[in-house]
Amino acid sequence: MNVYRSLIDIVGEKRVSNSQEELFIYSRDPGAQPPRQVDYVVMPETVEEVQKIVILANQEKIPITPLGGGFTLSALVVPNKGGIVLDMKRMDRILEVNEKSRYALIEAGVTQAALKSYLEKNHPRLQHSTPEAPPTVTVVGNALIQGHGHISPRYGVNSDMINGMEVVLPTGEVCKIGSCSIGPSWFTRGPLPDLPGLFIGWYGTTGIVTKLSMRLFPKPPYREVFAFSSDDVDLIPEAIFEAMQLDLLEDFFLIMQEKPEWMNHIFYVLILSGHFEEELELKTKIYKDLFRRFKGGGKVQFVEDLHPALRKRFLDVPPLAALAADFRKGGGFEYTGAILPIEKVPEAWRRGIDISHRYGMICSYVHQVLTGPSIMFGFNYSFNRADNADIEKTRKALEEANRLTFELGGMVWKGEVAAQRLAMEKMDPNTAQLIQRIKKVMDPQGIMNPGNWEPLSSDQK
Ligand SMILES: Cc1cc2nc3c(=O)[nH]c(=O)nc-3n(C[C@H](O)[C@H](O)[C@H](O)COP(=O)(O)OP(=O)(O)OC[C@H]3O[C@@H](n4cnc5c(N)ncnc54)[C@H](O)[C@@H]3O)c2cc1C
Repeated sequence: MNVYRSLIDIVGEKRVSNSQEELFIYSRDPGAQPPRQVDYVVMPETVEEVQKIVILANQEKIPITPLGGGFTLSALVVPNKGGIVLDMKRMDRILEVNEKSRYALIEAGVTQAALKSYLEKNHPRLQHSTPEAPPTVTVVGNALIQGHGHISPRYGVNSDMINGMEVVLPTGEVCKIGSCSIGPSWFTRGPLPDLPGLFIGWYGTTGIVTKLSMRLFPKPPYREVFAFSSDDVDLIPEAIFEAMQLDLLEDFFLIMQEKPEWMNHIFYVLILSGHFEEELELKTKIYKDLFRRFKGGGKVQFVEDLHPALRKRFLDVPPLAALAADFRKGGGFEYTGAILPIEKVPEAWRRGIDISHRYGMICSYVHQVLTGPSIMFGFNYSFNRADNADIEKTRKALEEANRLTFELGGMVWKGEVAAQRLAMEKMDPNTAQLIQRIKKVMDPQGIMNPGNWEPLSSDQK
């Protein structure tokens, strides 16, 4: 069968390509992983088109990799075994915003920027949880990889905010999940068996989400940012515990960079918000008092003179916390996101610096505190995209940071294939087997983003 011709029959000539120039773009992502082969790229516009493509792929046993914004940096959208990249960007309608039940029903290609500006214009009292990623990334891609946004320290990771979804299963059926499977409203995912979990964290290996209902949140009009600095790495768990214990923060991140010199400290950045000025004033006073207590030991300083430009960057939604990633002037930036228990932060901090130095890199951290509490501990690496040796060094540094994460009892978030394999090696064998069994039941032909969440075969070990 002529697959290219069949794809044209489904979506039309303009929305399918097998030209080398266009496939080149889809064969890599902005991170440090090597490029891989792509055979076709298709841009569906309707769920029926997605369904027909999946049925065709099943018939012909062609792998399909769903792509949103393609910005995980860990090549999760670059096919491991060739085949079709299903670029969802043209399915970009915001279908419903329900103010009272506070959710937005969107298609898979809706970007963070599109939802944010739509809400600002039409529903200014509501907001969604926006990651600090490029504005072109999709809300769906982010929620499905358990991403986190600017209100995650308060409300949880973004996958927790999913109310329901429409999915094209790997066998071609269209399936609704959550309250929308029973009635017209997309307002909740329960009380029902929690089926969204079959698609969250699976990297597109169990189906293609075509619609998603995301929770929305009140948007307090008053916001302020405070920064405190310290050099005491061992104090971090206690400072985070105290700050989170009050349950009053909108956002909370920690940053450090060895260059420029003034940034070579631990900075605690706290975003406070309030529905009333008095509320914000009270919260401000509470946090200043709290950190003053630490200061009693001479260990934490209030940053009195936060530069107005920095203040604006931190107060923007999303905040711009990664300040100067491109140390090497080569355009490459990678980070491995470790989800760590809070008490392991000091050890990760010290050993992470060590990893950067061993690979001749300047250490730079941006960490976001999450509900739990736990922390997204970002081991950041910048590299020269034109220098293969530099890219290889970055991969090695990433691998060491991932090994360290597992050694400390943490989890690697949005891990590339190598990191997924490390996780599978460490995993309870029954759990690893359960994952394989679920994948097999969902996707009997093994066409969905193959290579992900697969254990090492005996000849690869
Ligand atoms: C500078 C920078 C800062 C960042 N900051 C943050 C941050 O603060 N918080 C955060 O969470 N992330 C952050 N990221 C990481 C990443 O960019 C985001 O998580 C982003 O939202 C991922 O969405 P995406 O659309 O790019 O997903 P993609 O990379 O397109 O997809 C992610 C995974 O989901 C699958 N997938 C995509 N769409 C579908 C679908 N419709 N159905 C089934 N599977 C699908 C893909 O196959 C892939 O496995 C950052 C990245 C950069 C470069």
